[in-house]
Amino acid sequence: MLQKHKEPYIQQIRDDRLKDVQLFVKREDVIHPFISGNKWHKLKYNLSEAQKQGYDTLLTFGGAYSNHIYATAAAAREAGFSSIGIIRGDELKGQPLNRTLTFAREQGMRLEFVDRTAYRNKTDEVFVQRLHERFGPFYLIPEGGTNNLAISGCAEMVNDEVRTFDYICCSAGTGGTVSGLIAGMNSAGYVIGFAALKGDFLEKEVRKLLTGHSNAQLTNWEIQTRYHFGGYAKSHEQLKRFMQDFEQRHQALLDPVYTGKMMYGVFDLIAEKYFPSGSKVLAIHTGGLQGR
Ligand SMILES: *Cc1c(COP(=O)(O)O)cnc(C)c1O
Repeated sequence: MLQKHKEPYIQQIRDDRLKDVQLFVKREDVIHPFISGNKWHKLKYNLSEAQKQGYDTLLTFGGAYSNHIYATAAAAREAGFSSIGIIRGDELKGQPLNRTLTFAREQGMRLEFVDRTAYRNKTDEVFVQRLHERFGPFYLIPEGGTNNLAISGCAEMVNDEVRTFDYICCSAGTGGTVSGLIAGMNSAGYVIGFAALKGDFLEKEVRKLLTGHSNAQLTNWEIQTRYHFGGYAKSHEQLKRFMQDFEQRHQALLDPVYTGKMMYGVFDLIAEKYFPSGSKVLAIHTGGLQGR
């Protein structure tokens, strides 16, 4: 149902700081102007499932700056669904919309603001039941779009060429994308998820997602928790300087929440000699440039 506007390609990064590590970037950010990077892959099978089950409305959750809300609104419109976005923070009600939410509404998404306590309990049966009473039937896509179908979609970022790399690096929020990459690599290479958020929940979460997705016991992965820069939207002078410099050298834009932190982490690991000499490292550009 979702069309790619462009095929992703692999770009080699030539940079004197790499020493004898070969670094490449898979440009998933180019596949669609609005449903970019990993979000396209996460939504792909969810949309076809929603259609198969006969739904004409998608409902999902996110914060006011969420790439997932932005992408879901665009995907719903492109595939002919109505969409509802449950947005965290009832203090936003009646306020001018930021650019992410303005775009979502322009795509036809109905925005509903809920207070933070209610939002925290959004997966409770009672809460979902109330949403159904209010909005009628809808296909529910979880926060961040992470579920089994999303993992299957993200696994498709891996092809034979990707499988030849020693290391695959990607940014991780809810962990759906990195789980898909681990599943797709299926014990080839080694996958590193760079946590964009503070906290140690991700490793457990990824293990749970992988167990739910397949029975294979995959151990060729890890979560790096040293590069979140304080949390979700928190940015840092050092990170900003790194991103500006990277963008100038390599003609690839990064965002401060996800890909910027990952790339900073990759360069930091290279400086620490984490990767053995001669390693071929592939960083996945998961998109998210609307957040810049
Ligand atoms: C949403 C997002 C992520 C995180 O993906 P998860 O599947 O939630 O871990 C990473 N990078 C970008 C650019 C994103 O928009």
